[in-house]
Amino acid sequence: MKLLLFDIDGTLIRSNRAGRLAMQAALEELYGTAGPLDTYSMGGKTDARIITDLLTVVGIPPAKIEAQLPLVYDCMAGKAAEIYPNKEIMTCAGVPELLAALHLRQDVMLGLLTGNARPTASLKLMAADINFKQFRVGAYGSEALDRNVLPAIAMQRANVLVSTSSNRALANSVLAGERFTGDNTVIIGDTPADILCARAGKAAAVAVATGWHAAQTLAKYSPDFLFENLADTKSVLSALLGDV
Ligand SMILES: [Mg+2]
Repeated sequence: MKLLLFDIDGTLIRSNRAGRLAMQAALEELYGTAGPLDTYSMGGKTDARIITDLLTVVGIPPAKIEAQLPLVYDCMAGKAAEIYPNKEIMTCAGVPELLAALHLRQDVMLGLLTGNARPTASLKLMAADINFKQFRVGAYGSEALDRNVLPAIAMQRANVLVSTSSNRALANSVLAGERFTGDNTVIIGDTPADILCARAGKAAAVAVATGWHAAQTLAKYSPDFLFENLADTKSVLSALLGDV
């Protein structure tokens, strides 16, 4: 059994700056400013980190920022629900075919590991016609400032799901006593931060250059596998599952 943890932006979908717009609208509504959002490099960071950085620059005290993060996520979700359906949010090349192929496998649990806050993550996938519910577990950017703690959260949730599941197919496909650790987890992402995050979780790193980083940049971080895109389903399955 493998746990596959997908990043969202630049990996499953291209959001055409929709996420940035939703965050900007929420921060401007709540604080009258989005701080230096226009020049801020968001790639690979969690929403908690991004919002904290932006509000720190405009002088909001750390304790107040931390206390108000849930309010910001709620406001972002409201803005996202308005903005996302009107933006072109598209799947990256090969993603629908890959997810369809993975859907047929009994030996795979799909999950998300994303910098997006939980509510906006599902809205973004829905806007790209990706079924959010196929991802059985997730670790989200609203749960940590540091992306590198998210793999352990996702693995722990996957283990709880298996141990409490009434789903016979799922229970049968996990060998007795088998647990999700870095050894049977793969993290798929489009930024150096995704590769470093996989390393932090002792998981395999599969990098894809469909986001903002060229393949030669990603190669410098030595992912286990590197693809220009996910269009070659057979090769990607082989990299993810190691047995095709
Ligand atoms: Mg990404």
